[in-house]
Amino acid sequence: MNQISWTLQSFRQILKTCIAERDLITGKSLQALYIKSFIAPSTYLSNHFILLYSKCGRLTAARKAFDATINPNVFSFNAIIAAYTKESQPRIAHQLFDQIPQPDLVSYNTLIAGYADRGDTVPAISLFMGMREIGFEMDGFTFSAAITACCDDIVLMSQLHSLAISGGYDSYVSVNNSLVTYYSKNGYLEEAKRIFYGLGEIRDEVSWNSMIVVYGQHREGKKALALYQEMVRRELNVDMFTLASVLTAFTCLEDLCGGHQFHAHLIKTGFHQNPHVGSGLIDLYSKCRGGMSDCRKVFQEISGPDLVLWNTMISGYSQNEEFSEEALDCFRRMQRAGHRPDDCSFVCVISACSNLTSPSQGKQIHSLALKCDIPSNRISVNNALVAMYSKCGNLQDARRLFDRMPEHNTVSLNSMIAAYAQHGIEMQSLLLFEQMLVRDIPPTNVTFISVLSACAHTGKVEEGRKYFNMMKEKFGIKPEAEHYSCMIDLLGRAGKLSEAERVIETMPYNPGSISWATLLAACRKHGNIELAVKAANQCIQLEPSNAAPYVMLANIYSTAGRWDEVQTVRKLMRDAGVKKKPGCSWIEVNKRVHVFVAEDSSHPLINEVYEFLEEMLKKMKQAGYMPDLRWALLRDDGTREGERELRLGHHSEKLAVAFGLISTKEGEPILVVKNLRICGDCHNAIKFISAITGREITVRDAHRFHCFKEGQCSCGDYW
Ligand code: ZN
Ligand code: ZN
Repeated sequence: MNQISWTLQSFRQILKTCIAERDLITGKSLQALYIKSFIAPSTYLSNHFILLYSKCGRLTAARKAFDATINPNVFSFNAIIAAYTKESQPRIAHQLFDQIPQPDLVSYNTLIAGYADRGDTVPAISLFMGMREIGFEMDGFTFSAAITACCDDIVLMSQLHSLAISGGYDSYVSVNNSLVTYYSKNGYLEEAKRIFYGLGEIRDEVSWNSMIVVYGQHREGKKALALYQEMVRRELNVDMFTLASVLTAFTCLEDLCGGHQFHAHLIKTGFHQNPHVGSGLIDLYSKCRGGMSDCRKVFQEISGPDLVLWNTMISGYSQNEEFSEEALDCFRRMQRAGHRPDDCSFVCVISACSNLTSPSQGKQIHSLALKCDIPSNRISVNNALVAMYSKCGNLQDARRLFDRMPEHNTVSLNSMIAAYAQHGIEMQSLLLFEQMLVRDIPPTNVTFISVLSACAHTGKVEEGRKYFNMMKEKFGIKPEAEHYSCMIDLLGRAGKLSEAERVIETMPYNPGSISWATLLAACRKHGNIELAVKAANQCIQLEPSNAAPYVMLANIYSTAGRWDEVQTVRKLMRDAGVKKKPGCSWIEVNKRVHVFVAEDSSHPLINEVYEFLEEMLKKMKQAGYMPDLRWALLRDDGTREGERELRLGHHSEKLAVAFGLISTKEGEPILVVKNLRICGDCHNAIKFISAITGREITVRDAHRFHCFKEGQCSCGDYW
């Protein structure tokens, strides 16, 4: 290129193109030419270099260019302020702002928006108020940024809203978009709708899009889809954000079929390879039953997935418990592809480790997070770790981590409260909840599930009632079916069976099988056969293929010695073709997971396990253990008693516990996980085993943790 032929004008032109196209390479060579100073120093050109680096996310280079500017003017300052706010450093931006002799509207707007993005309400609003005080002319963007900065301060927000109206700013599309987004994000769906539908024809694609997002967030998928169809009818521009929101709508409707059709449309328009839309597709498929294979396909079709997309994929796997191994695998592949995992990647992969109940992998990921410089105060990662340690049965490490966290939010407390409740340390759980209230950390519906179940387990009927009312009245949380189940459990355990039944009859939801199963369990405990039959029938009607209610009913009859009815239930079960789901249990020893099924013959050390159990059985019987053959009754139709006893002794959880005992050091605690609920006989047997061996044995079943120690279980024999 001949330097002589360069004119200042063409130089400017190329630089502008570089900025528009984020072309860093050409931009850098232009700057080298500029520094060689065959062109006279120009503030105008310097500003454009600052802008180029800022747009390309090169903060250090932007700052260098700014510092080299000989006569920085307000545009130079604005460019460098934009660079800092973009990198989420509004404080440094503010220091620069204070050096501007006469800040203009752009300076203000950039800085306020920078604070707003980070949720820094106070500095953003004081800048805004400062503008008003000196009578500085604002525009729609100023208001939009200030609205966003309100975060969850609805009082402040309504003041701003009235200011916007009185100043006539509510005619700006950007202001209305921010209002719609603000109200919807904070749960004021009606207000958001009122503004959107009040906008008339000036509303632009952004408002349409915000409103579709709003409906998606409020799980009003049908309305979102209707709005989308209206947009198509009016031939409005549909962009990737709208399309992603439509996918969200299908996700919340769990409409896999509609999602598939829409996917086909996306392929036709070529949008399916867009990472943003791809993310939406992965999210949709991972949340719909049986969608994981589609998920994988979508992911494979996107060339060079970015970190966000990898994270969506890992998250998709980890949300589906049976794909937890794949989540870990995906995490490793992402690293091999050269991506450095961020907070979000760690949160997802840690939750996969919790699902796998793999303490060794969990610990490994924990140390990797420390190596990857994920700050040790990152709250979301810590929350995931607390939940992981607790799910892996390591309550002490969970608590230690919880205590070391510099700050707690609702999720942290929810994790710890649930951990105590599931481990049968309900008093700690309730104590922590009271502290949560004192510390003004707002509880959520999840908190109340743990709290109510803790009350149920400790028989605190009055406290349970109090908390149930507090949830509705003080915190405005609408009780869900799960909360009602907790209340049924609470009353049922305490023997208030008719009151429990009344809860089922009066709850504002269709009682699901869980409600009736909870009542059924209570009937078993209190020997109320009549109500048990009713509850069992309801369960069977709602979930005909589930064996559990049949089994429980048969157990109730056999306890009462009503053998004819036991036979009837068995016949019913056979006729309905219901089979008990095969139980399996697993244990991690020396970083390897060992899986056992009943009557296992595949494990290499199975003979040693059976020998150990035989020896153990003798000692248990001496200590007073009686095999409870009811638990073998349904399965082993027609077998002789001796065989039944033998089979009972070979349930998967007993095998896993035995294997744990012979393959770990004396005194070491062991953790076994079972896919179904623990059986009554195994529960009793493991109590004896814990007393005889002096070991702490934890069994995490499909429902809760059983911590066996010195012949007792933390569940208090009720689960
Ligand atoms: Zn068993
Ligand atoms: Zn137990």
